[in-house]
Amino acid sequence: MSDMYEIRILVIDDEPFFLKILTRQLNNLGYRDVVACTRAEDGLEALGADPATYQVIFCDLGMPGMDGIEFIRHLVGTAYVGGLVLISGEDPRILQAAQLLAKAHKLNILGAVEKPVLPTTLADILKHVKGEAGCGRVRSAPQRYCADDLLAALDRHELINHYQPQVSVASGDFVAVEALVRWQHPMDGMVFPDQFIGLAEESNLIGRLTEAVLLEGLRFIDDRNRSGMDINLSVNVSMDNLVHLEFPDFVMRVASDANVPVTQLVLEVTESRLMKDRLISLDNLTRLRLKKVGLSIDDFGTGHSSLAQLRDIPFNELKIDRGFTHGAADNPALRAIFEGSMGMAKHLGMVCVAEGVEDEADWQYLRQVGCDLAQGYFIGKPMAAEDLPGWHVSWQAKWGRM
Ligand code: C2E
Ligand code: MG
Ligand code: MG
Repeated sequence: MSDMYEIRILVIDDEPFFLKILTRQLNNLGYRDVVACTRAEDGLEALGADPATYQVIFCDLGMPGMDGIEFIRHLVGTAYVGGLVLISGEDPRILQAAQLLAKAHKLNILGAVEKPVLPTTLADILKHVKGEAGCGRVRSAPQRYCADDLLAALDRHELINHYQPQVSVASGDFVAVEALVRWQHPMDGMVFPDQFIGLAEESNLIGRLTEAVLLEGLRFIDDRNRSGMDINLSVNVSMDNLVHLEFPDFVMRVASDANVPVTQLVLEVTESRLMKDRLISLDNLTRLRLKKVGLSIDDFGTGHSSLAQLRDIPFNELKIDRGFTHGAADNPALRAIFEGSMGMAKHLGMVCVAEGVEDEADWQYLRQVGCDLAQGYFIGKPMAAEDLPGWHVSWQAKWGRM
């Protein structure tokens, strides 16, 4: 038997009856070391001087005195690095908002569950939690890089593309890849784009970064075309790429040099920063579309991708943000947003892509509502180019079984 049952769990709920049931359920599952508190203040005190002795906290949201949201705020100030499970008998959207808040505070959220809590749900949540201090990540500060580091990385060709597959929901066919840049840092290992795209934009290096990603992606597609498999390539472009009037001609030139028809290329746009010059980007995007380059509005539904952009820019593809895809099947709010966005895409004659398809329920939902394309961990994670053929074989087998 593993050490998974030797964890210490803190349970906080103002209803003594619920507290008793939850404690008993945990005991029945084999978790013997459960500390129960009816007040969040007592919970904080129990965590006391050594929060590391606890591996999981279950916390109710609605409590008189200190409520669950306040508890989260106080918890952030402690050295607690274990997991947190939120429980609530309120509107599921409150639970979702609380979860979002805890995530934004970089707490290790293991789940958010509505009352009544089923033993199978508890078992599911706790199955990956190990004893020792080992559950949960230690909250480490992200690495900070400066413009010189990034410039040197570009010069040394340390930026490489990973590719995440996109498949047709109706046929399961492999139809496209999205290029996602990675920095193979000589000391820090693989560094993800959230740690350097903003820096590239601020330090005028985004032009070189986009060029590197585009050239590598086009070479990859040319290779694929030669082997008789024509898939599309999506590349993320920053608004800062679009402030230069020569950008469309540059894209046309590199595609032609690489021997790739621009109809196989899709540029994904998000409004990551306040648009500096709306007219220039509108000019650029309209010219690109005129030349038959695909244009996709990325992360649709988040603050960065607005209805005004949809109205003004001739996008031909809409990517629904993963925040509205995963879990939509059984969440009425997500479903309303997902289906509303998809309806808009269809009305506008756009291809609709769902991002963040993480499990089979997400996938079946897309089949049911008739979304065009799907991308996400359920289909395939971003991977090195050489891993795609192997992924394709296993995807075909998985698809055949569904
Ligand atoms: P994005 O364009 O929305 O890309 C999708 C992100 O979601 C990727 O993160 C991908 O790994 C992740 N993802 C894919 N499937 C799933 C899933 O099922 N569940 C979850 N939770 N996540 C999933 P990544 O690679 O870290 O990229 C983050 C963002 O960085 C991208 O978001 C994009 O905005 C930006 N980015 C990446 N490459 C480039 C680039 O070459 N140029 C520019 N300007 N931005 C880039
Ligand atoms: Mg994208
Ligand atoms: Mg996206």
